[in-house]
Amino acid sequence: MTKVIIVGAGVGGLTLALALHERGIVSQIYEAHDRVKTVGAGINLQAYAVKVLHQLGIAEELSNNAICPEESAYISAAGQTLFKEPLGHHGGSDFPQYSIHRYTLQKILCDAVQKRLGQHAVQFSTRVNAFSQDENGVTVQFEGGDTTDRADVLVGCDGVHSIICHQMYPDNSAVRLPGITMWRGVARNIPPFSRHRVLRAGRLESGKLIAYPIKDPDDDTAILWNWVAELHTGKKAKVEKTSVVAINTLPEVFNMLQLGELDGEQLIQNSSHALCLPMADRKPLPNWSIGKVTLLGDAAHPMYPVGSNGAGQAIIDAATLAECLQQQSVEEALQLYNTLRRPAVSKLVEGDRLGGPDVVLNEMHRIVGSLHVPEGMLPGLQTTFHEKISRYRKSVGILIT
Ligand SMILES: Cc1cc2nc3c(=O)[nH]c(=O)nc-3n(C[C@H](O)[C@H](O)[C@H](O)COP(=O)(O)OP(=O)(O)OC[C@H]3O[C@@H](n4cnc5c(N)ncnc54)[C@H](O)[C@@H]3O)c2cc1C
Repeated sequence: MTKVIIVGAGVGGLTLALALHERGIVSQIYEAHDRVKTVGAGINLQAYAVKVLHQLGIAEELSNNAICPEESAYISAAGQTLFKEPLGHHGGSDFPQYSIHRYTLQKILCDAVQKRLGQHAVQFSTRVNAFSQDENGVTVQFEGGDTTDRADVLVGCDGVHSIICHQMYPDNSAVRLPGITMWRGVARNIPPFSRHRVLRAGRLESGKLIAYPIKDPDDDTAILWNWVAELHTGKKAKVEKTSVVAINTLPEVFNMLQLGELDGEQLIQNSSHALCLPMADRKPLPNWSIGKVTLLGDAAHPMYPVGSNGAGQAIIDAATLAECLQQQSVEEALQLYNTLRRPAVSKLVEGDRLGGPDVVLNEMHRIVGSLHVPEGMLPGLQTTFHEKISRYRKSVGILIT
């Protein structure tokens, strides 16, 4: 029976364990942290990824713990919503889009793995340091000792700074840091709004904000407003590591941004702290699979988080890899997985590097700046924005509703 070692219990690794289990393939996850731990707060799971999670039998847990946003709204410097797109069910998809706390999502996935595969299927506090492979299998070496484990396949789901990727590609595994700084936070005590929306305003050059509501993982009757503030800080002020920072260290430019009913100042001041991190991606790799070892999720394809696709693509990777492993011998399966996924995701990485859905915000700035747009001009403008975003989606081949 094929055994798979998975390095990393993030969204990608946990989904892979569930997808393999569905196909009768045994797996063991090794996770460096001592428990489910996440960096940042909310993520949006697009309908294409929710479809896979429903097929893996966690639809009810998701719908009980997530918010289903109705639309994505693009707001001008004058505070006007100039473009809207319906999301998930509201856009005609068979599946909803979910806004969810990352901890909640990972906990749902981890609970499902432990329930179906057994408590020991996720071994926490175990950092993988290196691997070696021969014609019969792969051996992983753990940090701080002589202990090893062996399997038929090794999947590096160990995130953006993947050591598995680094060992496969010592010269090509470094991330690209373009000098864009992100601050992420959650605001409490924001007045409730009648509709759930994903709100976007601003531009990287002068400050950009994205905000949407999620449920509090500690109290599902409470709503948190997840926000991400982004600014092109340039090479000189380049941030390279993630750190927790005080709210008063954020640049003032975000306070001025209008998000319809909300403003940047309200969001930022109602947050206890922020996480400061660099925007990063990596030049697409020539092949995600070498022999019996492959990569998945951010380890394979870190991307700018502008299009809400990173975790969703990790979920699709997991379903695809499990399917390939069920149908083919190990090395053929890993090459088929690489063929099916790598070209498509590489296109997305490069497309998001060019701004992804930010094309609408940039066009909005170019055409209207901070002017208030009269009602009569809205339909024409909306057609322009719709064409812009459709062109982006067509170029990266993403199915979004
Ligand atoms: C600001 C921001 C907003 C985002 N918004 C969205 C969004 O709206 N929608 C979306 O789909 N995506 C979004 N993403 C992207 C998404 O968060 C990632 O793509 C996704 O979490 C990647 O999952 P992963 O499992 O590949 O990696 P990770 O979640 O990074 O998990 C990797 C795991 O491996 C473990 N690990 C690392 N090294 C080792 C080792 N040597 N041994 C053992 N374990 C190890 C880590 O501890 C970690 O638990 C966003 C990202 C950012 C930064």
